[in-house]
Amino acid sequence: MKPEIRIGIGFDFHPFARDRQLILGGVAIPHDQGLQGHSDADAVLHAVTDALLGAAGMSDIGSFFPDTDPRYKGASSLILLEKAYRLIRGKGFSVGNVDIVVIAEEPKIMPYSPAMKANLSRVLQIDAQEIGVKATTMEGKGPIGRREGIAVEAVALLYRDQNS
Ligand code: MG
Repeated sequence: MKPEIRIGIGFDFHPFARDRQLILGGVAIPHDQGLQGHSDADAVLHAVTDALLGAAGMSDIGSFFPDTDPRYKGASSLILLEKAYRLIRGKGFSVGNVDIVVIAEEPKIMPYSPAMKANLSRVLQIDAQEIGVKATTMEGKGPIGRREGIAVEAVALLYRDQNS
């Protein structure tokens, strides 16, 4: 019998802020600005976390990890991703693959893609080749084009073996 498969989508946007370290996919990226947010504002991991939760039919990242909770102030979003992973594992799901689009005018993202994939691979227990990281710009248009922030889209495929 076919395994049960589920797809989920996630989206996140954070505005740039001075005096913040830019962290995407759990990787510190040298840049003159970081992203504003309650946690480390890692828009890549937030989008992936939402995609995982969505695929499992669960609520969104904000309901599990509210930005009013002092425990998550400045927290590494890898911790949020690990918790979401445990939640979906608790429902009997494994991760098939993840695909990510980073939408940013700057900085260049692709040099950091191998390190991002290594982090996601470790937490989600999948091969690096089961993770896609792509980057695009808004060609100078709109808030992202004006370098006001970074948006990320992600999809995740989950599967559940009939045995589980
Ligand atoms: Mg976020």
